[in-house]
Amino acid sequence: SHGIRINGVSKVFAGLHRPAVDDVSLDIAPGEFMTFLGPSGSGKTTTLSMIAGFVPLTSGSICIDGKDISRLKPHKRDLGVVFQQYALFPHLTAAKNVAFPLQQRSVPKPEIETRVRDALELVGLSDFADRLPRQLSGGQQQRVALARAVVYQPRALLMDEPLGALDRKLRDQLRREIARMHRELGMTFLFVTHDQEEALTLSDRIAVFNNGRVEQVGTPDELYERPSTLFVAQFLGESNVFADDGQAIVVRPERLDLHADPDTVPDACQRRKAVVTEVVYVGNHHRIGLRFADGTEGSAMRLAGAVLPALPGESVVVSWSPSHQVAL
Ligand code: ADP
Ligand code: MG
Repeated sequence: SHGIRINGVSKVFAGLHRPAVDDVSLDIAPGEFMTFLGPSGSGKTTTLSMIAGFVPLTSGSICIDGKDISRLKPHKRDLGVVFQQYALFPHLTAAKNVAFPLQQRSVPKPEIETRVRDALELVGLSDFADRLPRQLSGGQQQRVALARAVVYQPRALLMDEPLGALDRKLRDQLRREIARMHRELGMTFLFVTHDQEEALTLSDRIAVFNNGRVEQVGTPDELYERPSTLFVAQFLGESNVFADDGQAIVVRPERLDLHADPDTVPDACQRRKAVVTEVVYVGNHHRIGLRFADGTEGSAMRLAGAVLPALPGESVVVSWSPSHQVAL
C-alpha cells in the first residue's frame, strides 16, 4: 500500500481573508486508517479535495510514495473517492456502475466481470448486481459507491462524510463494513467526519481540524487521554475543565468520584465542591450533570446499577487522582 505526505498545504479561496486550510502538514502511513475530524467549516473537505485533485493548492505540496502529485489531474492520481451523496449513474445497474471505472481504464472484459463480482461481494451486494440505484436503499447505494471507488485498486480510498446521509442504524452497520473493508484490503483509507464516535471507533490515527489547522494528530486513545489543546479536549468526548493557577485542568467524566461526605475523599486526590444539576439515564450509565462553585458546568458518570451518591439539587464533593488530569 501507499503513503500520503501533506507538506505545508494551504488554500486561500478568492474573496476570503482567512485561509480555508492553513499550513497543514501530515504523514499518512501506507495502509493506515486516517481520519480528519473537526467541526463544520474547519477545512476537512478542502484538504481532502486538494489531495483528490478537485481543488488546486495555494501553497505546499502533496506526495504519494515520495512523488509530488499536487499538479496532476484527479484521474492521474489513482485515488478512490466517495462523497456523502452517492453520485451513482441513475440509469446504470449496480454492476454497471462498478464496472464504469474499469471500462474507462480499458480493462479487458472478462477481467471486468471478475473484478466487479469481487467488489460487489466485498460490500455484501452480490445479490443486487442488476438493481438500479433507485431500487436500492441509501445504505446499499453507498456500498455501490464504495465498491466503485475500490474496484480499480486505487492507491488510497478517500471518503468525505460517507455515512452522513444515513439514519443511525444503517450508519452503524456501514461503519462496521468500512472497518472490515479496511482490514480485508489493507489499503490506505482517509476518512472525513465531524462525528467523534465514528472517528474514535474507526481510525488508526485522527487529525483534529480547527479553523483550517490541524490541532493534534494521534491515536484515538492518545487524543482522548492526552489532548494537547482545550479544543481537542472539548471536541472529543466530554470534559470537566477547572481553572487552576492560570492553567486549565481537564478531567474526563468517568475519572470523577462523587462524595456526599467530604471526609471520604482520599488525601492524595484533587477536589472541588459541586451541586448535582441532573441525573440522566443513558442506557448503560447515568450522566450526572454538575455545577461547580465557580459556576462552570461539568459531568460525571456512573454505571447503571451503581448506587447514586446524590440527587439533583444536592451538594457533593468531586475528587480525582492527579494522574487522571491533563494540564493545558
Ligand atoms: P469542512 O469540510 O471542515 O466543513 P470546508 O473545507 O468545506 O470545511 O470549508 C472550509 C472553509 O472554506 C469554510 O469557511 C468554507 O466556507 C470555505 N470554502 C470551502 N469551499 C469554498 C469555495 N469553493 N469557495 C469559497 N470558500 C470555500
Ligand atoms: Mg466537509
